[in-house]
Amino acid sequence: MVTNHSYAETAYINGYIYTADSANNVCEAIAIAHGYIIATGTTKQIQYLVNQNTQVIDLQGKTMLPGIIDAHLHPFWGGLQLSGCHLDYASLTIEQTLAKIQHYLDQDPCVGIDDWLQVRGWLRQEVLPLGTDITRTDLDRLNTVRPVILFSNDCHTLVANTRALEKFGLNRHTPAPKDGKIGRRPDGELNGILEDAPAMRAFDSIPALNNKQAIEVAKLVQYELNKQGVTTVMDARSADLQFRAFKTLAEQDCLTIRLLGAAEITPDDAATLNDIPKALENVKAFAKTYSDEQWQPKPGLKISLVKFFIDGVLQAPLMTASLLKPYRINQGTHDQLNFIETDRFGDLYYDNTLLENLIIESSKAGFHPHMHTVGDGAIETMLNHIETLRTQYPHLNHIRPSLAHNELAAPHQYARFAQLNVIATLSFQWAGPTNEMIEQFYHMLGEARFNELEPCAKFLDAGAKIAFGSDWPIDPLNEWYDFKVAMTRTGYSPAGKITKQLKTDRCLTVTEVLRAATIDAAFMLSQEQHIGSIEIGKFADLIILDRNPFMIEAEDIENVKIISTIIGGKLVYQQ
Ligand SMILES: [Zn+2]
Repeated sequence: MVTNHSYAETAYINGYIYTADSANNVCEAIAIAHGYIIATGTTKQIQYLVNQNTQVIDLQGKTMLPGIIDAHLHPFWGGLQLSGCHLDYASLTIEQTLAKIQHYLDQDPCVGIDDWLQVRGWLRQEVLPLGTDITRTDLDRLNTVRPVILFSNDCHTLVANTRALEKFGLNRHTPAPKDGKIGRRPDGELNGILEDAPAMRAFDSIPALNNKQAIEVAKLVQYELNKQGVTTVMDARSADLQFRAFKTLAEQDCLTIRLLGAAEITPDDAATLNDIPKALENVKAFAKTYSDEQWQPKPGLKISLVKFFIDGVLQAPLMTASLLKPYRINQGTHDQLNFIETDRFGDLYYDNTLLENLIIESSKAGFHPHMHTVGDGAIETMLNHIETLRTQYPHLNHIRPSLAHNELAAPHQYARFAQLNVIATLSFQWAGPTNEMIEQFYHMLGEARFNELEPCAKFLDAGAKIAFGSDWPIDPLNEWYDFKVAMTRTGYSPAGKITKQLKTDRCLTVTEVLRAATIDAAFMLSQEQHIGSIEIGKFADLIILDRNPFMIEAEDIENVKIISTIIGGKLVYQQ
């Protein structure tokens, strides 16, 4: 396939170029002009577009792919984590945790009573011995006057020391919230543990970085992403500070990533039907500030999704993901398990009628609804609302709702994703839980439901589309490890051992994985006309790899290193 362009500014020849087009074609060479792909074909065919001004790059058999699209992550928050105090997702005792934090405090130039210290990369469920909770009393033992918070990697738990609680304005007289938990000791005093919405509200109230600091974080973020071959991301919880920082980079011609975003509408933003217009006005204003009208080869920004947090998380002790049938919980001990049926279904954070209206009104306003749905109950709720949207508003068929996470689906739901044209956004690495987590889920859900844990291929086999979203920094940024898990359904234990295979679904093929992280992620974001595949007329977002994922063992995919990342025809990362 060669077009009529007179000549190429850049030509890549002699490669193994997986195009991700609809036929999964592989070609040998491509030609680029003005940031667009103008031809694909054999090296010989492309030679006709080469003149004395063309930069010809001989790939010498190396593999080239479309740039990776990560369709659900929290890039700025990830950057903050990389640049601040974090616990590396390690399993630690309370003493070890405190020692790490103290070490950071002792070297940090900030020492004032108003200088927040945010500790991240903390796995609440991995505090040793398992089942231990860290409380305010523990954090108060740190040698500091600063407000200190420990924020869990799933962003559902925050532990505050006494100074931080003071600054949040929380005390024993604070009423119990409806949308989460403010933990208390038996004497009624707060224990410092905040769960779900109160944790997020408290976190959001911490004064943000100044613009200059934010720009430094944004630079680090785009570098880390480019280094793993990522050229487009969707920020699943967009806010002013981070978009201002990335917009500044764009204005300075320094942006090296395409940034799409979802603006969140919380249950507080739309407490009644009457609040919906106002909530949507806010989203529109935000989108207007940070969206480039024309998407072009030079990277830009766009807010084109709205985000709704429908339920919580599956793992004990939270168990806030919404289920169709109740959770089973352990009434025995750690060694003597005794799981019994309960009447606990988890949580749904929105009123049903309100949610249906929110979905319809956001779609009418042109935004693609993107939902956090972990349990089959939350999935069912959303599929029902989307069915209403599809049947009552057929002219809104261009809207692409996506459900993110889907850790536990019900067998009848996969086909509904396909029928209703709903995309499942999946964090592949979650299909490689530790053996302990597999045990826990097995008992918590019972055998039948356990078989639907972390579905992946089941969506594809039912005819639905899946899109990859790493959810960084819920987990470390490691895109190629995530791909490996999708292909093997094994992960690593905290000690680095390979875990038992999670046999609740078949493994994905390399083609399925790569499509989910390129063209199908572009589809979810409604950007497939511009990005996601190597085809004539699309932006030249390309990566060159040190090995060929089609020729190596699935286990080796995690070792892929990126040699070059090219965005809009421009080299932005080189090994
Ligand atoms: Zn997320």
